[in-house]
Amino acid sequence: MSDKILHNITKISADLFCKLLGQPSVSDLKTQLYEQNVQIQQLEDQEKALYRVISKIRASLELETIFRTATKETCKLLRVERIAVYRFYKNWGGEFVNDFEFAEPGWDDVETLGKNTVWNDSYLQEHQGGRYRNNETLVVSDVYSTGLSQCHLEILEQFHIRAYATAPIFVGKKLWGVLAAYQHSQPHEWKKLEIQFLSQIATQLGFAVKQAELLAQAEQKAAELHKANQQQEILFNLVAEIRESLNLDTLFKTTVREVRKALRADRVGIFRFDPESNYTSGEFVSENVLPDYDSVITIKVKDYCFGEKYAVAYHQGRIQVLSNIYQAGLKDCHLIVLEQFQIKAQIVVPIMKGQDLWGLLCVHHCRCSRDWKTSEIKFIRQLAAQFNVALEHSELLEQSHFQANQLAQANHALEVANSQLEKLSKLDGLTKIANRRCFDEFLEREWNQLKRTGNYLSLVLFDIDYFKDYNDCYGHLAGDECLIQVARAAQTVLKRPTDLLARYGGEEFIVLLPNTNESGAIKVTKLIHKSIELLNIPHTRKNSSQDFVTVSLGVATQIPTAKSSTQELVNAADKALYKAKEQGRNRWVCAAKV
Ligand code: GH3
Ligand code: MG
Ligand code: MG
Repeated sequence: MSDKILHNITKISADLFCKLLGQPSVSDLKTQLYEQNVQIQQLEDQEKALYRVISKIRASLELETIFRTATKETCKLLRVERIAVYRFYKNWGGEFVNDFEFAEPGWDDVETLGKNTVWNDSYLQEHQGGRYRNNETLVVSDVYSTGLSQCHLEILEQFHIRAYATAPIFVGKKLWGVLAAYQHSQPHEWKKLEIQFLSQIATQLGFAVKQAELLAQAEQKAAELHKANQQQEILFNLVAEIRESLNLDTLFKTTVREVRKALRADRVGIFRFDPESNYTSGEFVSENVLPDYDSVITIKVKDYCFGEKYAVAYHQGRIQVLSNIYQAGLKDCHLIVLEQFQIKAQIVVPIMKGQDLWGLLCVHHCRCSRDWKTSEIKFIRQLAAQFNVALEHSELLEQSHFQANQLAQANHALEVANSQLEKLSKLDGLTKIANRRCFDEFLEREWNQLKRTGNYLSLVLFDIDYFKDYNDCYGHLAGDECLIQVARAAQTVLKRPTDLLARYGGEEFIVLLPNTNESGAIKVTKLIHKSIELLNIPHTRKNSSQDFVTVSLGVATQIPTAKSSTQELVNAADKALYKAKEQGRNRWVCAAKV
């Protein structure tokens, strides 16, 4: 007998002996110990795996990644064919938001089950999450041997589910969804540890979802804050512009553009009621609209029920916020107007001018209905309030423009009248050349000027010969006409702008020639004499051979000095003229140097 056989016999007899005594045999103990070791090892492995999965889940704050990691890792660890995350809707129906398959060939085409599959379980819907509400797990090793209801079985068969274990996912105290493990190909005896593991992962998923939700909330808050900030900035700028703007049209254009941008609306318009229409008609005077939607500018809007139904409310400062025009209980006539402009949702706020409802600031959403945020409504309300100032400004401005215009016109008329008056006061009414007063002033000015510069001043005084006879012969009117022609002829001779011809009195004229010495003055004198002669105005005189109008001229020249006066110069010219008359008329005489 070999040692080995002997050893076995000894062992068997020892085991037999132990059994007889009702005690575990050594080999039993060994097996137990071994199994316990395996279990401990498994537990340890599972703990490690759990830790690994949890750290992976926690590494992300993005839900999609969290679900993907959780399903994949759990699926690999539990060695089941599918792990899925199911999320409840508000009505306790729900859908699969993520899954991972580890299916055997032939079972990996369960297309009906997977991400985005909606599964509305009437039992769960009725009981608002059923047993999951109590944080219970469900474990079914074989759907055919658990006594499930026929309708439940049918659903499970539809998804080829043979065995399953599910654990609820709670986010805070709220039942959020379910983490499910499925076996498609065969029944599966779920071990306690597996269920425990599934539960733990479900709990962790709840934490992760909470974290992600908090983060999303924080991000949304930050985004909203940013948007509100932007809106505040736009509001601030617009308000400044409104307060400074003097041009309503530009102001309206800026407003509709900025508001549409700020609210990402489809159309923003400024509607003005027709005055006197009792708020039954009006038109959009300014708009900013996306190209996809119709322009409403200048289209006449008539809404006869508006006046009675809404105008009073707007007048009292009420605003209209519609998220969905079809759920607002609007009158048909109002709906027709809104549909005409493709409006699905809108904010309408009154624009007041003083105490009167002037118009409306309208924000339209045309692509779909829209839930307006409180901050957006506040923004529009604040903005519209500013128009009151702008409208009153512009009216005042219009009034003052009008008044300024009238004032300018009156001013202009006054200026014209004044200058006419001044001209008249300086002009001779008959001949339209300078009168005596004008000549006297001019002479004084030039005298003083030339006194300073030490230059010559010459005067030519001339008188029509035998003019009394002319009047007697041809009549006073013809005499007047003769005076006009003589003046015109003499005027044509004068070329320098500072030379001045004036009617000195009756049929006497005087010419003032600054910066002109005697010889210059004589030249002018001769030219005047000639120009009148050339008029060839018939005039037969008793004592003269000439039968046309002639003049006699007296010239006087002087450099003005402090000792002499203008009167002396005029007297000298007068004397010279007298001499010319004496010497037979129709001639010129130069005064002896004064
Ligand atoms: P003399 O050659 O010496 O200058 O003779 P005269 O007749 O021109 O001189 P007198 O001074 O005697 O007459 C001037 C006339 O001129 C008298 C007046 O009736 C006329 N006369 C003066 N002013 C006007 C006027 O505005 N229109 C007309 N038609 N005649 C006027
Ligand atoms: Mg005369
Ligand atoms: Mg005279």
